[in-house]
Parts: sequence; C-alpha cells; structure tokens
Amino acid sequence: MYSEDPYTATKSRYECVECLHRVTTEETLGACPECGGRVKNVAVPRE
Ligand SMILES: [Zn+2]
Repeated sequence: MYSEDPYTATKSRYECVECLHRVTTEETLGACPECGGRVKNVAVPRE
C-alpha cells in the first residue's frame, strides 16, 4: 500500500527514467513497477 503524499519525509520518491512513473515508498526500489525500467531517487529522506 503506497501513500502518494509527497510531504512524507520518511519516504523516498523514485522516478522512472523510462516512463516517468513516480513511486513513493519506504523501501528501496530497484525497478519501475510499471515498465520494469530503471528508477532514480528524486528525494532524500530525512533521518
Ligand atoms: Zn517505468
């Protein structure tokens, strides 16, 4: 279950470099869930 709240600082946001799909997750994301492409971290969580 994902939260789409971009202001949740404890989560990381990833953006797919292939289809630009965005995912916010607490876990490390290795691949885009939509197309399986590479994702980049677009926000650093505050610890
Ligand atoms: Zn993708």
